[in-house]
Amino acid sequence: MSSVNDIRSTFLNFFKENGHEIVASSPLVPRNDPTLMFTNAGMVQFKNVFTGVEKRAYQRATTSQKCVRAGGKHNDLDNVGYTARHLTFFEMLGNFSFGDYFKERAIELAWNLITKDFGLKKDKLLVTVYHTDDEAAGYWKKIAGFSDDRIIRIPTSDNFWAMGDTGPCGPCSEIFIDRGEHIWGGPPGSPEEDGDRFLEFWNLVFMQYEQVTKEERVALPRPSIDTGMGLERMACILQGVESVFETDLFRHLIEAASSALGHGPNAQNVASYRVIADHLRSSAFLIADGVLPSNEGRGYVLRRIMRRAMRHAQLLGASEPLMHRLVWALVREMGQAYPDLVRAEKLIEETLQLEETRFRKTLVRGLSILDEKSAGLKKGDMFDGDTAFTLYDTYGFPLDLTQDALKSRGISVDQAAFTDAMERQREKARASWAGSGEAATETIWFPLREKLGATEFLGYETESAEGAV
Ligand code: ATP
Ligand code: MG
Ligand code: MG
Ligand code: MG
Repeated sequence: MSSVNDIRSTFLNFFKENGHEIVASSPLVPRNDPTLMFTNAGMVQFKNVFTGVEKRAYQRATTSQKCVRAGGKHNDLDNVGYTARHLTFFEMLGNFSFGDYFKERAIELAWNLITKDFGLKKDKLLVTVYHTDDEAAGYWKKIAGFSDDRIIRIPTSDNFWAMGDTGPCGPCSEIFIDRGEHIWGGPPGSPEEDGDRFLEFWNLVFMQYEQVTKEERVALPRPSIDTGMGLERMACILQGVESVFETDLFRHLIEAASSALGHGPNAQNVASYRVIADHLRSSAFLIADGVLPSNEGRGYVLRRIMRRAMRHAQLLGASEPLMHRLVWALVREMGQAYPDLVRAEKLIEETLQLEETRFRKTLVRGLSILDEKSAGLKKGDMFDGDTAFTLYDTYGFPLDLTQDALKSRGISVDQAAFTDAMERQREKARASWAGSGEAATETIWFPLREKLGATEFLGYETESAEGAV
C-alpha cells in the first residue's frame, strides 16, 4: 500500500526525472502578498515568475505545497467533516512550467504518472476541459485515447482557474476518477456533481492570462503550466478507501485522539473526530508559520478553526484540553517532510493548550445557552441573532462555530440580527468613548479596537464570500 509519504515522494521524483527542480513548500502566510489570506495553491509562490516579474534559475519546478482553504476565494471550512474530500489544510502536489512546455506535454506527463506510476485504470478516468478549449480536448483524445463522452466541456469558472480576484489565471482541465455506483454523486456538470462518486484529484491549469484588475485581463509573457493534485485525495484513491479521513495519515491522527479520549469513532460522532484531525493539522501548520490566535485577520481565522475543534472535543466528552495532546502524533506523521513542524512543536502545544484552557472557561456555559435557546427549533428554523451575538461577545463563540453547531439540525442563524446587535454594541462603545476623557484610551479604545477588528473581519467574510482576502 502506498502511504501518504510514499505518494509525495513518487510524485516529486517523477517530475525530477522529467527535468523539474524540486522546490520546498512556501509558508502558509504568503510573503508580500496582501491580496491573499493564506497560501491556497502550489502556484502562489511562483506568482511573479508566471507574470515575468521574477526570474528563477529553472524553468520547470515541482513542489508539495502546504495549503489552507479556510477564508477568501477558496474556503472549504464548512465542508470539512461533511464531504469525503475537503480538508482545511492539505498538501497540493504540483508541477510547473514557466514558459517551457505547455498543454500537450503537461497532459502527457500527467497521463504517464497516473496510469503508469500510480497504476490507475484508464476506464475509470474522465476529464473536464473549459468549453471553448478544443486544443486541450484534442490532446486528451490523442494522448489518453478518450472518446468524446469522457471529455466533459464545462462552461463555468470551475474550469477557469484563478488564484484570487487578481493574479495569473487560465482555462483548466480537471481529472476525475469514477469510484463506483456504491458512492453517491454524478459526473462533473451533472446536478449531483457535488457527491463523492466522481472524485476530482488533479487540476491542470493552462496559465495564459493575468487578471490585473477586476476589468482588465492581459496575456502572460509566455504560456505556462500550473498543476495541483491533492495528496490526500490521491492517497484515498490508491488506498481504496472512501474518504481522505480513512487514509493512513488521518487514521493515525484519529487513533491518537481516540486513545486520548478513551473511546473511538462511531457513526454518530465520526464527524467530530474528522474535524478534530483536520483542524489539528491546519492549526499546527498555521502556528508553525507564525500565525497566533487573535481577534482579527489571519489570527481570527486560526482562532475560529481552533475553537471549532475544541467544541468537537467537548462533544466527544473531553473533560480537559485535548488538542495539545495530539501534536506529537502529527509531528510523527509529517515532521520528516516538514522540519518546521518539528521546530515549532513546543510552541504549537503551548498555543493550543492556552487557547483551549481559556476557551473552556466559557465553552460549557455557552453550549448550554445554545442548547437551551435552540431546544424548541426544528429544521428550517432560524436561531436568534441576538443570542448568537451574546455567544460571540460574552462566550467567545465565533459566529461560524454557532452555525456549525446548528448545521446538523438544519437550523441557520439570523445573520442580519447578529450584525445589528454587533452594530449597536459598536455605537454604544463609541458613545461612551466620546464622552470620556483621555484616561478612557486604555479601557475603551483597546478592547474596542479588538472588537472592531473582529467585526470588520466578519463583515468582510459575510459580504464578499467570493472576494480574495
Ligand atoms: P473541489 O471542486 O473538490 O472543491 P477544487 O476544484 O476547488 O476542488 P482546485 O482549486 O482545482 O480544487 O485544487 C487542485 C487540487 O487540490 C484538487 O484537484 C484537489 O485534488 C485538491 N484540493 C482542493 N481543495 C481541497 C481541499 N479542500 N482538501 C483537499 N484537497 C483539495
Ligand atoms: Mg473547491
Ligand atoms: Mg473542482
Ligand atoms: Mg479543481
